[in-house]
Order: sequence, then C-alpha cells, then structure tokens
Amino acid sequence: MSAPTTAGAPDRVVIVGASAAGLAAAETLRREGHTGTITLIGDEPTAPYDRPPLSKEILSGAWSPDRLPLRTQTDLDALGLDARYGSEAIGVDAADRTVLLSDGSLVPYDGLIVATGVRPRQLPGIPAHTLRTLDDALALKNRLGPGRTLAVVGAGFLGAEAAAVAASLGTRVILLEPAPVPLAHAVGEDIGRILAQAHIDRGVDLRTATTVSEVVTGGIRLDDGSLVEADAVLVAIGSRPNTEWLIGSGLPVSDGLNCDMYCSAASGVYGAGDAARWHNPLFDTSMRIEHRTNAAEQGMAAARNLLGARRPFAPVPYFWSDQYDMKIRAYGYLRGHDEVHITEGSLEERKFTAIYRTGDHLTGVLSIGMPPKSIRPWQQAIAARTPWTLTREAAA
Ligand SMILES: Cc1cc2nc3c(=O)[nH]c(=O)nc-3n(C[C@H](O)[C@H](O)[C@H](O)COP(=O)(O)OP(=O)(O)OC[C@H]3O[C@@H](n4cnc5c(N)ncnc54)[C@H](O)[C@@H]3O)c2cc1C
Repeated sequence: MSAPTTAGAPDRVVIVGASAAGLAAAETLRREGHTGTITLIGDEPTAPYDRPPLSKEILSGAWSPDRLPLRTQTDLDALGLDARYGSEAIGVDAADRTVLLSDGSLVPYDGLIVATGVRPRQLPGIPAHTLRTLDDALALKNRLGPGRTLAVVGAGFLGAEAAAVAASLGTRVILLEPAPVPLAHAVGEDIGRILAQAHIDRGVDLRTATTVSEVVTGGIRLDDGSLVEADAVLVAIGSRPNTEWLIGSGLPVSDGLNCDMYCSAASGVYGAGDAARWHNPLFDTSMRIEHRTNAAEQGMAAARNLLGARRPFAPVPYFWSDQYDMKIRAYGYLRGHDEVHITEGSLEERKFTAIYRTGDHLTGVLSIGMPPKSIRPWQQAIAARTPWTLTREAAA
C-alpha cells in the first residue's frame, strides 16, 4: 500500500469469486498501490484455498485440509480486504455499478473483477459425486478403498487423476469415456493412448467409446440400456462457467464472461480465471482456460489493467497433472493442433517431450517424466511465435 491510487483509477473495487484468480487480483491491486477499498465476495464459507491438491493429495489422504489455504490469515489481514465469505452475488447493475448479494444488500463499485470460476457438469438421474470443492473431495475420499467400486464418468485430466488415486488406494475403478481414445482432442491420439495404458496397467477397467446416459441407484446406466454397478459414481465430464448471475446485466456472456485482450468486458469490468473468456493476442484466438497458473496470472493482469496499465494479456498457458508416478506438464494451446512430434525420450517408457504444430507455428509442448528444464526452451519458442519449420530444425 505504498503509492496512492492514481487519478482516474477506481476507488472501490469489488472482486466476485474468492479463489486463485480473485486473490491474485486483490494482492496485485495492493502491490500496485491501490489504496481504496477491496471487497472480496465468495460464496464458499472459507478463505481462498487451492484446488489442484483436491484430486491428488487430499483425495489420497497425503495432506490434511489445513494445508489447502492459499494464504495465512496474517497475509490476508495485511491486504485490508472487506472479505465477505459465504456471500453469493446474484446480480450486477452495470449502469449503476452495483453488485447485488443474495441477502438483498447492494455493494457499489468503481471497478469490478469477475472471478467466479466454473462448476462441474452433471448427468441426468440421481446426484453423483463431483469434484470441485474441499467438501466434494472429502466426501469422495470416504467412498474409496479396498472392496469398493468407483465408476468415474469422463477420462479427462480430472477423472484420470481421481481414477489414479482411487486405484492406488485399492479401489476397483471403472473409468468410462465416450471418445475412442481419452484426451485425444487435447494431447493427440498417441499420447492419449499412452496415458490410457497407464490406467490399464494399474488395473483400472477403462471402457472407451462408452456413453453414460444417467446415474441410477447402485451405479450408472449406459446409452445401450445396460447397467454398470458401482458403490459410488464420480461425474467428471467438464464444467460450466459460473456466469448466470450476470444475466440481465448487459455484460457479454457466452461460455464465460467475454473479455478483450486486456481482460475487460465493459468499462470498469474485468474477468479473470476459469470464468473468463478473452482474446489471447499471442495465439490470435479467444480462449477460456481452466488452469491454476492462468487463474493467478489473469487475476494479476485484470487488476493491473483495471488500475490503468492497458497491457494485453498474452500468456503461454501452462498446466500440469499428476497421475500415478507420471508428472505431466504442458505449455501452450494444444487444442485443435495439426501435428505432434516427439523431440526426445520414448512414448513406451512414458518419458518424453512432444511439441505441437497448429497451422504454421509451434503452439504447444507437453512432457511426461522429464525435468522441467527440458520443456522451458519450448515455452520461450511458443511465446516468440516460432514458425514450425524453424522449430523442427531446432528439434533435429
Ligand atoms: C480437483 C481439481 C484439480 C485441479 N488440478 C489442476 C492441475 O493439476 N493443474 C492445473 O493447472 N489446474 C488444475 N485445476 C484447475 C484450477 O484449480 C482452476 O483453474 C482454478 O482453481 C481456477 O481458479 P478461479 O479463481 O478462476 O476459479 P475457482 O477456483 O473455481 O473459484 C471461483 C470461486 O468463486 C465462487 N463463486 C462462484 N459464483 C459465485 C457467486 N455468484 N458469488 C460469489 N462467489 C461465487 C466459487 O464458489 C469459487 O469459490 C484443478 C481443479 C480442480 C477442481
């Protein structure tokens, strides 16, 4: 809180969503000298906590929940926030610049940051487990162990991580996936097959090209009418942005709050994290990224731009995933790629680095079981928009 807020900068900032993106925005506002109020509104009852460990260390029992908070209470106190946990925003009046809370109160703002994240998609039928919050993780953890059967619907990264932990705890796991090769759309067919094989090797009953129609008592019903019996069902079939509360506000919403390259959706309104779709000038495309690192980086970018920086947000997205002994790391935008090339290591040993071409450019890199330094030069090459021909020469 060193420098005073600059002329024209907002005095009252409201951040809706008290998690990775919202917290990063609040910290950045203070670091950049914002001396006005910051109201942090979150519908979960607790201070911001980290989600990636939910499907890893929390589900496995390696961590207790007290390791999850993103900051200590002392650090949060130092930010001087008006923190309203357990408080749901249900509307915005963009003309009057107020946020409406579910208890009927109105919170005025000069600047608004929307960081409300996503929530899991559900299947028809009776409620099943999903995995987004600490309570979700603890409830699922209770259903794992020897002698129990877990059906996981969806073999994306979340479903795969949960399946891996459940299998490691001795649970019988049935992993169901509509695509012929899990994650092929994201990482390519060959790598998708390698990841799938890791589950099969650990005894997971992987059923691809299998569509689930509903969750029923005692398991799930497939679209061919057959029943797959399970003691518990985890539905991991993707998520929806939490943007319904913006309907009627006049803010542009379609698959996320639509923002420009400055993460701005309207005058004084910014989006960050899983809930925000924005134009990434580096890839010249609109994207909405559900990755932990992006949430923090976009929270920072939105806060700076709200204070007047006007810097385009042009990151090389990064994500990681842990499954069994595999550490998967990826930079870039792999979706919609045209070609995958292995630059080092071997697919069979599940130790390799792969680069991705989209159009004429290097757009992504993914490694499994390799040290982080093997991937970083590719991150820089993606950031530099390196043409594929030069990339292949460097890889040769
Ligand atoms: C189980 C799990 C494992 C993951 N593992 C990885 C991983 O290995 N690697 C990786 O890169 N990423 C991972 N992620 C993704 C990463 O956690 C998210 O990208 C990140 O949490 C997004 O942060 P966010 O602040 O944008 O949204 P969120 O963390 O979803 O936070 C949004 C907050 O806003 C609240 N909210 C919603 N609507 C309202 C409202 N109307 N009023 C008030 N509050 C509201 C929500 O309850 C929530 O607390 C994982 C996610 C999960 C769930």
